[in-house]
Amino acid sequence: MSDVSPLPIVRSADGLSPVVEDWHRAGLRVGFVPTMGALHEGHLSLVRAARRHADRVVASIFVNPTQFAAHEDLGTYPRQEAADADLLAAETCDLLYAPAAQTMYQPDATTQILVGGPAQTLEGSFRPEMFGGVALVVCKLFNQVGPDVAVFGEKDWQQLMVIRRMVRDLDIPVEILGQPTARDAHGLALSSRNAYLSEDERGVARKLNVILAKAAEQVRAGAAVQLTERSAEDALRQAGFSAVDYVAVRDAESLGSYTPDRPGRVLAAARLGGTRLIDNLPI
Ligand code: AMP
Repeated sequence: MSDVSPLPIVRSADGLSPVVEDWHRAGLRVGFVPTMGALHEGHLSLVRAARRHADRVVASIFVNPTQFAAHEDLGTYPRQEAADADLLAAETCDLLYAPAAQTMYQPDATTQILVGGPAQTLEGSFRPEMFGGVALVVCKLFNQVGPDVAVFGEKDWQQLMVIRRMVRDLDIPVEILGQPTARDAHGLALSSRNAYLSEDERGVARKLNVILAKAAEQVRAGAAVQLTERSAEDALRQAGFSAVDYVAVRDAESLGSYTPDRPGRVLAAARLGGTRLIDNLPI
């Protein structure tokens, strides 16, 4: 038995607001970490960052149906709430918000968010439903939780840029913090979807960050962007990835074309059998 006290779990926005309102009345700053659960060290690093920037920390677990396309893994996405709650309690998270899908979306809900800008490329091209769904749920969660600061992972770099843009464009009064990607000893970005990988596939997956690091280094040394992208895609296929959706060198913030006078980012998505992995590194 652990000596960590169990984490309060709240299932509805109605149950949440009185708690957060009390904290705010007491002058406490509230941090928020939204997740889809199956927590790993990457998520926990966000909780620790929230703890450093706030007096109380709320984490949420919600496998958001509106960001999955019909053919994607909504039904099989790993769910392990009890284990997740133990991990969060050990990080001195103060409250877990785990709403049911029926309480999140009214059957006749019709309002959407048109994200545009940094959402219109890369992941937005391959998964057209995703960023609208992410923006909608993050906006709803912000309204329900009422945090002062929210923490997101650089692992999903494009998502972080889309959320920063939404918060700015819609005047949402939440400070957005990005946190570096947590990786295993071989540099593989931790991901809930790594659970789908066989041992052999994991060996291939570990080459993704190595190939991206080489591409970033080449661009820094002045190599042509398109040539670098194509040779990284070839390298991924040779390493054993079954398909490469993209390797792209982009402006880090707008995700438009890269110019050497501004911060850049190299981003990739590649598939190993049925599992799709993404990663990115600074130029
Ligand atoms: P998810 O549960 O996959 O929706 O992720 C929830 C949050 O955790 C998002 O802000 C992700 O970017 C972040 N995250 C996921 N994996 C990592 C990682 N390896 N390192 C840092 N943050 C991560």
